[in-house]
Amino acid sequence: SSPLDKEQMQGLRGIREFLKVRTSYDVLPLSFRLVVLDNDLLIKKSLNILLQNGIVSAPLWDSRNSAFAGLLTSTDYINVIQYYCQFPEEIDQVDKFRLSSLREIERRIGVVPLETVSVHPMRPLYEACRRMLRTRARRIPLVDTDDETGRETVVSVITQYRILKFIAVNNEQHTMLLKKPVRDIGLGTYSSLATATMGSSVLDVIDLMVKHNISAVPIVDQNFKLLNVFEAVDVIPCIKGGAYEELASTVGDALSRRADDFGGIYICGEDDRLDSIFDTIRKSRVHRLVVVDDDSRLKGIISLSDILKYVLLFGEEEDDIRQVGTMI
Ligand code: ADP
Repeated sequence: SSPLDKEQMQGLRGIREFLKVRTSYDVLPLSFRLVVLDNDLLIKKSLNILLQNGIVSAPLWDSRNSAFAGLLTSTDYINVIQYYCQFPEEIDQVDKFRLSSLREIERRIGVVPLETVSVHPMRPLYEACRRMLRTRARRIPLVDTDDETGRETVVSVITQYRILKFIAVNNEQHTMLLKKPVRDIGLGTYSSLATATMGSSVLDVIDLMVKHNISAVPIVDQNFKLLNVFEAVDVIPCIKGGAYEELASTVGDALSRRADDFGGIYICGEDDRLDSIFDTIRKSRVHRLVVVDDDSRLKGIISLSDILKYVLLFGEEEDDIRQVGTMI
């Protein structure tokens, strides 16, 4: 292999070693706020709370049993929307749903519930990453047990973004070795891309996300030039106040409802390298990169899970993977 390959592998090994000696707890800031929602809360009200707090997900708490009750994410709202589409005559009912009904909604629309995984905050970060990749969970609650009461407590939630940010900030000596262009390492998805246009309805885009099991759809013009990206979290303001009929409106309208502090979308080219992608992650709140050519035409998409998978698994011996698999 070339010197470039050797360096790349050396960088990846460095990051993996780092993830093995750090814990999920290390990723948490010194002081942070955690919004936990009571399972008895109306789904309708939960939307406002997320929007008011500028967050897109929250752990749920079952106060009757004093137990952690799962994680509320934009997928749950997409499920509620699917329910509304399948049973439009039950709109009055939909308004009365509580967060505790989410599992029932999943059952009625026939989606397989996501496996609820959690990790102990003091376990190696590497383990949390492997578990994320195995279950395709984009965020994992850190659950600890209270020494005195023996009850579960949710310490925080760890996301793919936070982990990659943590790597970017603490591993510059390793990320700077990742000099192979994304084209050469096959990072991301470049075929069968799911796309929509500004005139598509929000419901159509939600349909695409559900069918392809993806969290974002690039919005392009008739020449396939990239105009924007519709993200799963963009559905939250769309259904605020129970205005489900607005889902028939266009993507263009929906995107104009984004919060003022929306961070923007991030693009890169096929010649860009992971070292520069990590620079971007270090500086900004990146949730995915859209790959475009020199004429801003859409070429592909690099998700955070694509990056995490590459960083953890590329070049790993099958045996090692199996070994870790049984450990986790
Ligand atoms: P993440 O798991 O980081 O939230 P996604 O769910 O969006 O990211 O992506 C899951 C997989 O699907 C990734 O391999 C990604 O490259 C691919 N992907 C993401 N968006 C699209 C899209 N619009 N069309 C086709 N594939 C996509």
